[in-house]
Amino acid sequence: MFFPFMPAHALEVKDVRFGIHEDKTRIVLDMDQAADFQSFVLSDPYRLVVDLPRFTWSVKNFTANDEAGILAVRQGALKPGVSRIVFDLSRSMSIRSAFVLPAKGQKGDRLVIDIARIGVDEFKQFKGQIHGNLDINNPPNNAGQSYSNKSKSKANAAVKNDYKPLVVIDPGHGGVDPGAVGKEAGLLEKDVVLKLALSLRDALVKSGRYRVKMTRSTDVFISLRGRVKFARDAGADLFVSIHADSIGNKKVRGASVYTLSEKASDKQTAALAARENKADLIAGIDLSVEDQDVVNILVDLARRDTMNQSKFFAGKLATVLPKEGVRTLEHTHRYAGFAVLKAPDIPSVLVEAGFMSNKNEARMLNTETYRNKVVSGLKRGINAYFDQVQKNQRE
Ligand code: ZN
Repeated sequence: MFFPFMPAHALEVKDVRFGIHEDKTRIVLDMDQAADFQSFVLSDPYRLVVDLPRFTWSVKNFTANDEAGILAVRQGALKPGVSRIVFDLSRSMSIRSAFVLPAKGQKGDRLVIDIARIGVDEFKQFKGQIHGNLDINNPPNNAGQSYSNKSKSKANAAVKNDYKPLVVIDPGHGGVDPGAVGKEAGLLEKDVVLKLALSLRDALVKSGRYRVKMTRSTDVFISLRGRVKFARDAGADLFVSIHADSIGNKKVRGASVYTLSEKASDKQTAALAARENKADLIAGIDLSVEDQDVVNILVDLARRDTMNQSKFFAGKLATVLPKEGVRTLEHTHRYAGFAVLKAPDIPSVLVEAGFMSNKNEARMLNTETYRNKVVSGLKRGINAYFDQVQKNQRE
């Protein structure tokens, strides 16, 4: 639907009201214009999330309403063009229906969301179900376009089996940044990981189950933040960064998998992440400028769910890699503050396929036979991860 007389200003959320019914709570957001939205529920703790095109929040009084099951509300920018509202719920609730009511008579445009109490066991089946059709990866850029008539909801697409998850593969380093230099003559990390990434892409595409994008498919430099941004802009369902670094102890060998943590799981890992995070300095990029990307407190909410999914995926990889004949480091799944893993809303892992500092491992990574084993392991882990994700969506 197009509103030709709509002034081209940002959406305004004017008020939030609750209506308590016997079988549901009705949440009404009074807005100055109709707009596309998406809404879903999360657990641990229970929350209702409402995403809208970037809005100004003019809600004067908000009072928690225990009877309605609503403890608090927060809102703010989520990403360019998109704002998020989060309602903290006091119990497990699901969305019964959500729709926009265009202005009529005295009443202005409203977004109506009906939520109802459900059992904790029942909750699973509603998790991940999206109501509404706002495409947060492609938000409208002015008010006149903020409400469309798309009838098919994204939820249906996501739940249906024909949805192909988007995997973003991120071969580390590139261009002016060679990464580690192998003990094997002339072998560079940037080349090894690109080969691994390209074969992984081919294997995933061939399976017919995924869409795949690569942060780089040639020998170019990309900043760490640029890699994260690429994955977010693409709307990735999973982010896999591939490396083969060097570490101090030349005897250490074996593949390992890392997920994000402020605190590294051990000294060796901390050193690895510290060195990895310097990639941008190598190319002369001033991180202090780039770092000013808006990091909103709301992002923490998404991060908690993402973190759990990342850990789950890393665990799967740690289990399946050896089954494909890939030698792994003990405590294969480790934690560290790799900058490239910081997308708050995309499950992300960094895979060290092996260490270039170990002569034997560098030699093996230089062979197609061994790289194929690594690729099979990664593919198997990705399959296992999405098997679980899709199972959760069906349950
Ligand atoms: Zn690296």
